[in-house]
Amino acid sequence: MADLLPETAPTDASLRRALRRARDGAVIDVAEAAVLLAARGEHLDELLAVASRVRDAGLVAEGRPGVVTYSRKVFVPLTRLCQDRCHYCTFATVPHRLPAAFLERDEVLEIARAGAAAGCKEALFTLGDRPEARWPAAREWLDARGYDSTLDYVRACAIAVLEETGLLPHLNPGVLSWEDLTRLKPVAPSMGMMLETTATRLWSEPGGPHYGSPDKEPAVRLRTLTDAGRVGVPFTTGILIGIGENRTERAESVFAIRAAARAAGHIQEVIVQNFRAKPDTAMRNDPDADLDDLAATIAVTRIVLGPKMRVQAPPNLVGSEFALMLRAGIDDWGGVSPVTADHVNPERPWPAIDELATRSAAAGFTLRERLTVYPGYVRAGSPWIDTRLHAHVAALADADGLADESAVVEGRPWQEPDGGFASTGRTDLHAAIDTEGRTDDRRGDFASVYGDWDSLREQLDATRRSAPERLDSDVRAGLALASTDPAALLDPAHDAAAMALILAEGPALEELTRLADDLRRDVVGDEVTYVVNRNINFSNVCYVGCRFCAFAQRERDADAFRLSLDEVAARAVEAARDGATEVCVQGGIDPQLPVTFYADLVRAVKAAVPDMHVHAFSPMEIVSAAAKAGVSIEEWLTELRDAGLGSIPGTAAEILDDEVRWVLTKGKLPAAQWLEVVGTAHRLGIPSSSTMMYGHVDEPRHWLGHLRTLARQQDRSGGFTEFVPLPFVHHNAPIYLAGLARPGPTERDNRAVHAVARLALHGRIDHVQCSWVKLGDDLSADILRGGADDMGGTLMEETISRMAGSENGSARTVTELAAIAHAAGRPVRQRTTTYVGSPSRLEPAAGAGPRLLPLA
Ligand code: SF4
Repeated sequence: MADLLPETAPTDASLRRALRRARDGAVIDVAEAAVLLAARGEHLDELLAVASRVRDAGLVAEGRPGVVTYSRKVFVPLTRLCQDRCHYCTFATVPHRLPAAFLERDEVLEIARAGAAAGCKEALFTLGDRPEARWPAAREWLDARGYDSTLDYVRACAIAVLEETGLLPHLNPGVLSWEDLTRLKPVAPSMGMMLETTATRLWSEPGGPHYGSPDKEPAVRLRTLTDAGRVGVPFTTGILIGIGENRTERAESVFAIRAAARAAGHIQEVIVQNFRAKPDTAMRNDPDADLDDLAATIAVTRIVLGPKMRVQAPPNLVGSEFALMLRAGIDDWGGVSPVTADHVNPERPWPAIDELATRSAAAGFTLRERLTVYPGYVRAGSPWIDTRLHAHVAALADADGLADESAVVEGRPWQEPDGGFASTGRTDLHAAIDTEGRTDDRRGDFASVYGDWDSLREQLDATRRSAPERLDSDVRAGLALASTDPAALLDPAHDAAAMALILAEGPALEELTRLADDLRRDVVGDEVTYVVNRNINFSNVCYVGCRFCAFAQRERDADAFRLSLDEVAARAVEAARDGATEVCVQGGIDPQLPVTFYADLVRAVKAAVPDMHVHAFSPMEIVSAAAKAGVSIEEWLTELRDAGLGSIPGTAAEILDDEVRWVLTKGKLPAAQWLEVVGTAHRLGIPSSSTMMYGHVDEPRHWLGHLRTLARQQDRSGGFTEFVPLPFVHHNAPIYLAGLARPGPTERDNRAVHAVARLALHGRIDHVQCSWVKLGDDLSADILRGGADDMGGTLMEETISRMAGSENGSARTVTELAAIAHAAGRPVRQRTTTYVGSPSRLEPAAGAGPRLLPLA
């Protein structure tokens, strides 16, 4: 074990000062927290009293004064193999000491059934981290049963437990990525991973307790913590004390948890766990963390995290010091099982639940059973708990969100019936948005669905860089390159020249757009193209929390709507009658959406208009649907392609740089995942557009980076048909209303972005589109003179930009599009979605609908 770093004991004066500030409710910092951790004797008594008051205030605010909780659970040690080697752990072992690499599904169910019979409501899945990465036996076991990974098996077992027993899974599978969390969220109302410590040296230095354990790198674990917030997973975490960290490092760990909790509000409880030495481990001779130290740490954790946080100490690790832990500010005893052992600490049995109740009562508290997911999340529902779990949770929850101790624990179907969903809400929004407008400028859960705005502001400030100085020599070099070898603008060696162009003004901007216009003429000729299409947004219900998005609504908001499959098909028929060759279909990540909806929608449109090109589903929709279905992106796209999907919109790209994405969106897919989806689509023969939304919290350097990323992807997969720069529409965008974003790009920005895109993507992407719905007609005409060659579609209806406050209407006739092109001095030509072949008029298979638009 790494030695405890020498750390000077705080002076009495500093301890008194920190205590006074804590008592007065001042916001304490890391240094003061570290000082308070050293409190002992009278100082400790005083610290505990402060922490108790903070906890009590939180319980009063929750409406349950004097109530501490526990979860009645079974412990499911799915596998004790692990790719890590933590020096204090006896849970992880080697294959030859186990009867099998994993528990069989039937063994899991046997444990869960025994739990259900004993009134348990939680199945705690605790397992080693990705054992297949280290142990061939684990890989072979999974292969033999057809599972790609341990996480796939966890998912399958969680579903089995829900369906066969009704217990609620709480998953502890270790480090999880955004995609892992998205795949597991539909099968578990809560998940967890102990942060343990943020002290990197305990991981990186030989002899440290986490040395040789790849998943124990603090940065990796912090990423899981923040990703869980992005995906909206009620999450349990905590610190492990006494493993060699010093007081400052311990305090820093608590503050790191606070930062994650503040950002997304998803940390449902924090466990403060004390190291207890175990025989047969490298740390067997290290001293246990003493219980006063534990009490001081709990108290500091409580004070730092505040009254709303639930703070827990495992009752089987605190000896007989139950009262001390309660004085220190805990309000939860964690999971306790009347059926199974604590397989992580098998030598320390859990107390009987009656004893826990008695001990709590002796300290003045009533013990209540809770579910694995805490009451606030139970009450909030959909943003946190997947629709597929609502019935399971509701069956076990009391009106206050705690457990209904008399509930019958029994299995319930996990998957909802196949099919579409009913049409609900403001289904006329596509038309009414142009006449009546939206009901309110913000959705009902504005204050909570986007995370904490103040944390976000700090995050944004930390990443801001000043724009580089623009030198005339760079502008000259950029223009020279643009006229001789434009694609080389993306070469990092020419970064200064490319940046100078993207920031060009005045005569340099005019020259830039002239060069882009010349290149456009050389590559695609003078005709301005458009597609006759109809946008169909099938639902605007979404809890992802993209902070730029004014389209998404809560289910019960006045502007929320859902279209049935029949309505979507009817709109496709109308579109065909009005000359459309494409429907562009996208929607929110609606929690009520059955996984079959996407392919059913494609089939419904194709059945109604067999030759209609279905340009549908953003990479975000594809990833989340595949995750819910529990299949790979490739399998999912193959099914959609086979159903008749023609291409996918390259939306949801925003800016392909996570630094910007995690400010701009809370739960959107990471950049790497977006690339994986489009790359997979291209490989399967499904082309896509590519987009960039700009002019919000981004900087010009991000635009250049985005173009580089698209160019690399095009070199790899070659399926981008066009590039569509999408200026940010700010008026009703949450991030603008919260005061963090700019009011969209300037006219200069728009002209420069389109021109640089034309030049820099030369040889890779031939078509650059100007979006009339965002730019308006006059600026579109201007941009057609500066590198763009396409005007997108007639749209026929448009709600996304119009909800955001775009004032350019939601439809254009062909005549109106031609007028824009003519204003730019150019002829027009109708194209297909993919720019291949010539469009022809489509015949609906059945039905007749009213005309929507005059086409000429
Ligand atoms: S952009 Fe899409 S995923 Fe994000 S909140 Fe809006 S509808 Fe939902």
